[in-house]
Amino acid sequence: MRFSRLLIPTMKEAPSDAVLTSHILLLRAGFIQSSGGSGLYNFLPLGKITLDKVRAIVKDELDKAGCNEVHLPMVTPLSLWEETGRADKFGSELLRFKDRHQNGFTLSPTNEEAMVNLVRQTVKSYKQLPLNVYQINWKFRDEVRPRFGLMRGREFLMKDAYSFHATVEDMEREFALMEETYKKIFTRLGLDFKVVEADSGAIGGAGSKEFMVLADSGEDTIMVCESCDFGANVEVIAEDETLCPKCGGTLSQTKGIEAGHIFQLGTTYSEAMKAEFLNKNQKLEPFVMGTYGIGVSRLLAGIIEQNHDEKGCVWTKESAPFSVDIIVAKAKNAEQMEAGDKLYSMLQAKGVSVILDDRVDKKTGFGVKVKDFELIGIPFAVVIGNDISDGKVEIINRETLEKEEVLLDMIVETIVEKLS
Ligand code: ATP
Ligand code: MG
Repeated sequence: MRFSRLLIPTMKEAPSDAVLTSHILLLRAGFIQSSGGSGLYNFLPLGKITLDKVRAIVKDELDKAGCNEVHLPMVTPLSLWEETGRADKFGSELLRFKDRHQNGFTLSPTNEEAMVNLVRQTVKSYKQLPLNVYQINWKFRDEVRPRFGLMRGREFLMKDAYSFHATVEDMEREFALMEETYKKIFTRLGLDFKVVEADSGAIGGAGSKEFMVLADSGEDTIMVCESCDFGANVEVIAEDETLCPKCGGTLSQTKGIEAGHIFQLGTTYSEAMKAEFLNKNQKLEPFVMGTYGIGVSRLLAGIIEQNHDEKGCVWTKESAPFSVDIIVAKAKNAEQMEAGDKLYSMLQAKGVSVILDDRVDKKTGFGVKVKDFELIGIPFAVVIGNDISDGKVEIINRETLEKEEVLLDMIVETIVEKLS
């Protein structure tokens, strides 16, 4: 894509109500914009591209694990919530409204009821099990204190998956598979994370684990073992506990951002909603369920909390909106612009996602283009400047800010190698 054609309103300073680094940087670099309502954001082109990249990774790994993607309406009949009693239990976070016929509805904050309703209409026999259905869809929670930008919005993108099984053992197998799948997703995104034991809370059920993106700004306090992989939310382990219950090693306290949560749900929902299947003996039984969430839009904030410096965002390889920013220092110079255009086509032909900074307006000199590159946080820039007459360009590594002179003839293979 061409910078000159994209809406990227970078700013020197963020509005004063933004206090968290990721919130400030995502606003300043033109990824998101306040929509005017608290906890509601417009995703500008860079934000939308990045969200789609993260979403694609989540989808790819879930599909590989055998999950089925579906799409449910964001509006759910309140009657479904009444079947499980959650219409009352969920409280003010659940936004309710009525249509012209006075029927009650909710804006979905999560979709257990709606997904059980989908499955009870279609799955009748143990032969159709196990089944894992998911969607990546907007959720609405009327949070008491929406804050920190994408970290705690009122409308946010969540991947919510629900699995259905004939036995508890099979549900436990799927729970373990989802834990492995989540690890793959978080690793691909380049995140430093920890899986911790968690409270099963209001949703109910037996086992529950949270995926914590480690960051000082995290709202959750967790205890992690220095010797093994044990970790627990302080909701389930005393904050002054120093011995690891798994290996006897030393526990230390740290902060995390909850980016994912997996639950062993059991039959609470299927019983309440009479969602049953015929077992091998032709007897009706309620489905044994698991439920698995990832905060997809929250992940954008989490990635930046972990990957930034004083100049701006530093996106990880797989999350970056573009892999390469071709900066044409003087876009009015025909030789530079031609070289830029040519490199742009060649990189695209190799499947590299690339943006061409072709801006020519007076205000957008070379310095501004480099500053925008640093603020946006694209992994590499290729600078096409005066040295192009000698067949030379410069690569800037966003993470290290190191510069390297490369022959124009070698640039495509150099970039492809750096990205692999
Ligand atoms: P939190 O404790 O942070 O409020 P939660 O326990 O309410 O989270 P879940 O119901 O488990 O969250 O939802 C699944 C995932 O959705 C969470 O792990 C989190 O990543 C994300 N999420 C929840 N609430 C929000 C929000 N208000 N804004 C952005 N993402 C959210
Ligand atoms: Mg919550």
